[in-house]
Amino acid sequence: MSGRYPDAVDVAIVGSGPTGSAYARILSEEAPGLTIAMVEVGPTVSEPAGAHVKNIVDADLRAAAQRSSEGPGVGEATLNSPRAVAQGGRRARPGTYLLPDGDFAASGDGLPMAAMSSNVGGMGAHWTAACPRPGASERIAFLDATGELDELLSEGERLLGVTTHAFDGAPFGDLLRSRLSAAVDAGRAPSARVQRMPLAVHRREDGRLVWSGSDVVMGDATRDNPEFTLFDETLATRVIVEDGHAVGIEVRDLRTGESHEVRARYVVVAADGLRTPQLLWASGIRPDALGRYLNDQSQVVFAARITGIDDVEVAEVPGTGGTLSESSGVSWVPFTDEMPFHGQIMQLDASPIPLADDDPVVPGSIVGLGLFCAKDLQRDDRLEFSEEATDSYGLPAIRVHYSLTERDRAVIERAKEEIVALGRAVGQTLDDKPFQLPLGASLHYQGTTRMGERDDGESVVSPTSEVWGVEGLYLGGNNVIPTSTACNPTLTSVALAVKGARAIASRAAIR
Ligand code: FAD
Repeated sequence: MSGRYPDAVDVAIVGSGPTGSAYARILSEEAPGLTIAMVEVGPTVSEPAGAHVKNIVDADLRAAAQRSSEGPGVGEATLNSPRAVAQGGRRARPGTYLLPDGDFAASGDGLPMAAMSSNVGGMGAHWTAACPRPGASERIAFLDATGELDELLSEGERLLGVTTHAFDGAPFGDLLRSRLSAAVDAGRAPSARVQRMPLAVHRREDGRLVWSGSDVVMGDATRDNPEFTLFDETLATRVIVEDGHAVGIEVRDLRTGESHEVRARYVVVAADGLRTPQLLWASGIRPDALGRYLNDQSQVVFAARITGIDDVEVAEVPGTGGTLSESSGVSWVPFTDEMPFHGQIMQLDASPIPLADDDPVVPGSIVGLGLFCAKDLQRDDRLEFSEEATDSYGLPAIRVHYSLTERDRAVIERAKEEIVALGRAVGQTLDDKPFQLPLGASLHYQGTTRMGERDDGESVVSPTSEVWGVEGLYLGGNNVIPTSTACNPTLTSVALAVKGARAIASRAAIR
């Protein structure tokens, strides 16, 4: 041991979000004898470690957990909904913090809302938990061809605890979906028709909703694994590579400022779409595609109210037991190649919202519509890492080069037309026009360490998420996704992490 760290483990994992936790879970299940050290730069903010902050009943404690996740951005004002973001300028969502001014748009349109979370559980302690499967061109062809992709996605759903029935008691969900179906389903395959959104949310027997965070992904298999240890407030500053092999990580204990080396047979970096390539770059691991093919999902939002329900008896909504229930039902309009948007349709909180004094709103009848757009992939949309400047953790400063193409702009215009049509199908539209969120607001940064079938200079990792040319170094996160997607990416990233973890489990057994 040196300080609180072991000198050597079998597997060192950087990052405690859903994808790092998926590695820990699969390794705990499939290779229980391996010693695992997970390091996380942020503090533990919830119980069990990595739990979603929405599950914290006390509002003050919940707000404190969100602030503790905001790393160097703590104290900045935040905005608590996509709608507020659309209208509120450059401010982060609670639990997240933004890249510094100037760095988010080194060239092109930039990603003004590029954000991160620094806490045990990562963004997975703050997310909305929508877990759709990718469809059509969103899917990774070389994993699909073998039938493997769906098996991995099923495993991802198991780890994340995905359900489609948590909001069954919410009023008007079926009515809403039937109206959306009438507007879009004609000619669609059954899997691409309007349906309940798969969510990493379940309802406990006492009626309380529980949002899955990394705690659920880790599960008891990881927590009860005597060979697994989580070190919070620990910054990984370098992956150590010797003779083309990853052999450990260098860490800094943020409580004492001291640095240590943890030797490892395998290293996993799952430090988010911005900081995973940053750590590789800081370690001198700089393949051509590192930081490139950055892509995010432009987002358009609109609001509507379900009409024609004055005589409908509102079903009793199961109590939310004090949890922060942002929505009382989420419906899904899946992506298709013909309509390259992914629709997330949220019925707002079931508690009555006064629109006007003489116009009380029926619970569940206000609907927030959001369409995420797939982006053209471009090599020059990229993160640049500074040789001199550092971020607030002392790692290379990240600067963003990012531009929409003509086609991207056309897709966004189509999405605006489509969202108005969906709003009209729901009932009465509540906005004059749709809002486009500032770029980066979807929080789905992909491609920066993309997976490829072969090492052709256009990818960073192999189909098992191992970095080309650095044996034993595996990556996790949305950064690994190689396709242009519109659907929420976490399920796909967790599925890819499952494959990487299995590869380590089978190799590590051979000493
Ligand atoms: P993260 O969860 O970001 O975790 C990475 C971790 O690595 C962080 O905890 C970070 O502190 C740590 N780290 C970084 N660098 C270092 C270092 N050098 N040393 C040590 N630790 C380090 N996705 C969906 O699919 N569906 C949704 O509905 C959805 N809604 C969202 C809503 C909100 C408000 C937010 C904030 C996010 C949402 N997301 C959603 C995105 C989702 O949370 C992320 O896709 C997911 O958390 C990514 O998991 P990850 O493990 O790759 O990264």
